Amino acid sequence: MNRPLRILVIEDELAIRQGLIDVLVFHGYETDSAASGPTGLQKALTGKFDLILLDIMLPGMDGYEICNRIRAEDRQQPIIMLTARTSEEDIIQGLKLGADDYVAKPFSIQQLLLRIEAVLRRSPAGQEMARTIHLDGISIDTENLVATGDQANLTFTRREIDILSYLATNTSRPIPRHELLEKVWGYDRHLELETRTVDIHIAKLRRKIEANPKEPTNLLTVRGAGYKLVVRR
Ligand code: CA
Repeated sequence: MNRPLRILVIEDELAIRQGLIDVLVFHGYETDSAASGPTGLQKALTGKFDLILLDIMLPGMDGYEICNRIRAEDRQQPIIMLTARTSEEDIIQGLKLGADDYVAKPFSIQQLLLRIEAVLRRSPAGQEMARTIHLDGISIDTENLVATGDQANLTFTRREIDILSYLATNTSRPIPRHELLEKVWGYDRHLELETRTVDIHIAKLRRKIEANPKEPTNLLTVRGAGYKLVVRR
């Protein structure tokens, strides 16, 4: 899939709405927004969105009603509720109506981005997107373990693709080496030798995917924190 993921923000508070849009655009998502319930519902039903961020208290129609009506039309539409209410009952009602997740206000941007990535990973668009990883100057077909386009002769091992895929679906934070060992290699212990294994694989990957492996623009080292992949969505 060669298009940015689209997110609809339905939120009546201007500062929050604008803040969300700025952050989402910065992280490579395409956005649209609505400031009232009816407009939000109309956009949700007529536009094509990979995810909807839905406030609960809205003028004209509340988020529960909107969620309910979206679900009546489209059971697959990913929805995350934004709730100022933190009572268990309210959260349960949202989830009962079919929201995929909720984030309680005030939320941290980091937490919200993690939830967004998690919901998108399970969504049809996310799964389709996982088939191709778009980076600076190179796109990678994760099923056939090859680069696409001009560099179609470049091949990858399954392990290399697993590393890239894990990083590509967790782009909002640097991934520590021990986490890669756990999630990609399935190791639960972290011996010095094994940590070096990660570095060796990263170095090999950089020789394949970076124009200049010494100054990477795709697979970055975040000092003291781990590795980060810069994905073009
Ligand atoms: Ca509101």
